[in-house]
Amino acid sequence: MHSLLIRDVRPWGGPPVDLAVEDGVVRGIGPGLAPPANDSAPPSFGPGSSRPRVVEGRGRIALPGLVNAHCHVDKTWWGGPWVSSPGASTVEGRIAQEREHRDRLGIPDPDAATRMLRRFLQAGTTAIRTHVDVDPGVGLRGIEAVREAGERVGGAVAMEVVAFPQDGVVRRPGVLDLLDDAARAGADHLGGLDPAGIDRDPVRQLDGIFRVAERHGIGVDVHLHDPGELGSWQAELIAERAAATGLGGRVTISHGFFLGELPERRRLELLDVLAEAGVGWTTVAPLGRPPLPLAEMAERGMSLGLGTDGVRDLWSPFGDGDVLRIAQNLAAMLRYGTDEDLERAARWASSAAAPLVGREVHDVVVGAPADLVLLEGETVGDALTACPPRRTVVSGGALVVEDGEVLAGGSGEVLAGGGG
Ligand SMILES: [Zn+2]
Repeated sequence: MHSLLIRDVRPWGGPPVDLAVEDGVVRGIGPGLAPPANDSAPPSFGPGSSRPRVVEGRGRIALPGLVNAHCHVDKTWWGGPWVSSPGASTVEGRIAQEREHRDRLGIPDPDAATRMLRRFLQAGTTAIRTHVDVDPGVGLRGIEAVREAGERVGGAVAMEVVAFPQDGVVRRPGVLDLLDDAARAGADHLGGLDPAGIDRDPVRQLDGIFRVAERHGIGVDVHLHDPGELGSWQAELIAERAAATGLGGRVTISHGFFLGELPERRRLELLDVLAEAGVGWTTVAPLGRPPLPLAEMAERGMSLGLGTDGVRDLWSPFGDGDVLRIAQNLAAMLRYGTDEDLERAARWASSAAAPLVGREVHDVVVGAPADLVLLEGETVGDALTACPPRRTVVSGGALVVEDGEVLAGGSGEVLAGGGG
């Protein structure tokens, strides 16, 4: 017998159905399903046992829980006092200013990370891949803070952790050992950063990271900001190593905006190489950079995910933790207009990103994890363009947002920037 019934919802804007949930998994989809038995445990994060076991969808669209495939939960001051930026604007400058100011600001902070996770839930996100700084100054404290935040929200946000050498690898002796420690402490992926632009030695950075990742059998996710041919050469180095180590399918490039800058022939050749090697991609909706050729990437079967990147941190004061807003901005950048294209953008923020958060299936289908967000709207395109409040969110079969209030891991305080 199922323990939660979500009545009258429209998966992906289709015909109305009920969803039956048991043990955190969608077990039944269809019209007129029976309510759960009275003796089943209430699947809720709320206090006491009074939470409903039947959720009334009222004809809203049901999407799988949103996936934030690229964020930095350890850096944020979300929900805390305003932090005036010291003003650096380049990648190198921001790295330095972060190392100079983070201790003073108490970063990483498990309280801020918890507020960020609760905001993600409030925006309908139930699974994330977060990069977490690992360097000689902070050691593994960021990973510990993020893990603690994850526990405080009762595991309502499924989390993959990337041990991220934000300050470089080759140029900072000891970082590879720290990454090895992070892998031993359970990091799901090792990060990298502009192997050429920051370390000025791409082969050594990538060989070092892939060697440790291969030893532990974990993934690799490299931030690549370097432009044009410099970026594409490093993408080839990453693809070579993905193929050689057998880590294909678990290797990701983050950002990589150079792809939008290459001549067509070079771009298509490179995409074939990347797809063949099993390299996936995560991105934001970047201002001032040509958009990535996402449709061409999807055609080749590359895993694609969207992320908020840093939200209210020393890299950017912007962001509200809403990955649906990122999908909306990206759709606008790509000049999407048809219902089909708008739905495609929404899928990149949810079901399509399943492999990036370690899931085979993440969708509103029988057998999938019961992670769901309900949205007002006629069609998915309508919801994407409106980005309505997410009043009902289910994670792991439990109601985690009810009437816009986050039930998981909180004391009920008003969340900064919360839109209900
Ligand atoms: Zn990032």
